[in-house]
Amino acid sequence: MDTKASENDQGNEYSAALREYSHAQELVNNLPYGLMILLGAAIFVVGLASSVWGWIAASVYVMYGVGGTLWIMVFVCPYCAYWNTRSCPCGYGRVSARLRDKQASDRFKEKFKRHIPVIVPLWLIPVLAGFAVVVRGFSWPLLVLIVVFALDAFVLVPVFSRKHGCVSCPQRDSCPWMSQKRNEHGEG
Ligand code: SF4
Repeated sequence: MDTKASENDQGNEYSAALREYSHAQELVNNLPYGLMILLGAAIFVVGLASSVWGWIAASVYVMYGVGGTLWIMVFVCPYCAYWNTRSCPCGYGRVSARLRDKQASDRFKEKFKRHIPVIVPLWLIPVLAGFAVVVRGFSWPLLVLIVVFALDAFVLVPVFSRKHGCVSCPQRDSCPWMSQKRNEHGEG
């Protein structure tokens, strides 16, 4: 019996028609998010002048970043059509299959809306904290870090998400992120 095929078939009727990602591609697709977490941590270290509190804040932020990915794997991915397939662009879907069983795909939109706000502060906290420090005492290195963080977090991460997954996702019609984008472009 082909175990791999069996895994891919489990709970996902779309897998055969979708693009599949190699481990190398999954790694590349995780780079913008990983870079965002490292840049966010660097903002705390530089902003707090490499003090103990800077390193503590950076460590907490990194743990939050890792915890955020686990949160998505546990509370969102089991409801996704890409769960336990190689069509999940970042590989979360297959890790999720080791953590939870498949859940009803028709609840994906509800789960997405409920749980995405848990990780949204990852995008905001470094910018807000960094600017608070810049306003109190201007620093070019910190300002550059904030700008690079913002470019990665608000441009590169969404572009990667949409380019590698959302476009061909069978759940795009029920996805709040894609609905928002369609409205912005006056579609649908
Ligand atoms: S596409 Fe997104 S929601 Fe779906 S399994 Fe992958 S990471 Fe999870």
